[in-house]
Amino acid sequence: MNTNEFKKQAHQFVDWMAEYFESVEKLPVKAKVYPGEILEKLPLKPPAEAENMDEIFHDFKQIILPGMTHWQSPNFFAYFPANSSYPSVLAEMLTATLGAQCMIWETSPAAAELEERVMNWLIQMMGLPQEFEGVIQDTASTATLTALLTAREKASKFQINENGFEGNEKYRIYCSTETHSSVEKAVKIAGFGRNSLVKIEVDEEHKMKPGLLKEAISRDLNHGFQPLCIIATIGTTSTTAIDPLEEIAQISSEYKIWLHVDAALAGSALILPEFRWMINGVEKVDSFVFNPHKWLFTNFDCSAYFVRDAESLIKTLEILPEYLKTQSQGQVNDYRDWGVPLGRRFRALKLWFVIRNFGIKGLQEKLRYHLQLSQQLKEMIIKSDDFEIMAPVPLNTICFRYHPSVTNDSAQLDKMNEKLMHRLNESGKVYFTHTRLNGNYVIRFVIGQTQTTNKHVQKAWELIKETAEKLNN
Ligand SMILES: *Cc1c(COP(=O)(O)O)cnc(C)c1O
Repeated sequence: MNTNEFKKQAHQFVDWMAEYFESVEKLPVKAKVYPGEILEKLPLKPPAEAENMDEIFHDFKQIILPGMTHWQSPNFFAYFPANSSYPSVLAEMLTATLGAQCMIWETSPAAAELEERVMNWLIQMMGLPQEFEGVIQDTASTATLTALLTAREKASKFQINENGFEGNEKYRIYCSTETHSSVEKAVKIAGFGRNSLVKIEVDEEHKMKPGLLKEAISRDLNHGFQPLCIIATIGTTSTTAIDPLEEIAQISSEYKIWLHVDAALAGSALILPEFRWMINGVEKVDSFVFNPHKWLFTNFDCSAYFVRDAESLIKTLEILPEYLKTQSQGQVNDYRDWGVPLGRRFRALKLWFVIRNFGIKGLQEKLRYHLQLSQQLKEMIIKSDDFEIMAPVPLNTICFRYHPSVTNDSAQLDKMNEKLMHRLNESGKVYFTHTRLNGNYVIRFVIGQTQTTNKHVQKAWELIKETAEKLNN
């Protein structure tokens, strides 16, 4: 491909991208394909000869697109959003063009310094402690692993890095039963073994019970275990429950245990002063992660990880082979030492574009709008005769189920709701996912996609009611 051809194609693609954003709400939200359907359409052998870009683009539209789930549809209410926005997409175009590998300061000084500045902007925007230092990671899973590794090294005086586990360590890590699965994964990867993870019961609002946390810690101490890390969740994945950070932080500081906060989705809401109560106690927190790629209009991937003690983080992960030695060492942030991979994408650029183009006010407006829509929907569900709210709605996730007066049998209700959700998803008009709360099958309605408006929520609610009425057909 030459420059002229590139220009021609790029313009055509941009037109297609704009049209896609305009019309994505008309596409089936969840891909309607059977397993292996796309694979069957792809040639078994790679092409020996050059293929024309028009043909490749044609196949993208014909083969790939129908097999995509449309996360940027305003009718996407599943999981948590992975939302994007125009400024974010524009930045990604530039990032791809520069194609920089930003592992250390020298390999792109602007990338390192922009990252430092933008992370500090987030600290200010979210009311995080000024002593925090931030770094962009690919995902919250990686950030949580990084936190556990740092806690491990600090506790072992950096001996596990040197000698590995001796075999007599008895570390314990604490989280709630509602904690994201990435914690268990990190515990396995960091070498603690899954049995070292203690899951604390939650209260009726699905928040960790700090009294039980304290009991578990003192029981473990009596049995010769070493409490290493507590993970508090601000906005759990099932229901966006908010663990009582202030009380948990009191316990972590009393016993001198590393306190990590997973605020993957809910961290974004901290740009709203009225939600800062969620991090009361943050002055005792050691590390904190949230995903701008979930609810801050910055396309996947972009996870913001903050630490109080950057020196320990670096000491845990640093490596310095001869070929990476530079003259700027020590004067600048070499982010390869702040995370697991050596190579790093230039992710700060899209975050910078988003923060500047929305402005703090624009971001706040969007979030408040989503939050308002969530409360409105909650009220409509409460008022309806045949539906019920299954968990508190502190943020943008509404857990509900269909519960007509004809039955109170929980197995039957589970079946009905499962059927209801599948019918809704099969309609292509909306996409929901479910969870289980106290054993009950519950549908989650998450309002966080960039383009979701009142109209989309109302239409989805009407569809839910209609579909439920026809459930026996
Ligand atoms: C989404 C989520 C995660 C995982 O995020 P990744 O960035 O995909 O690793 C972790 N914790 C919570 C609470 C989440 O909601």
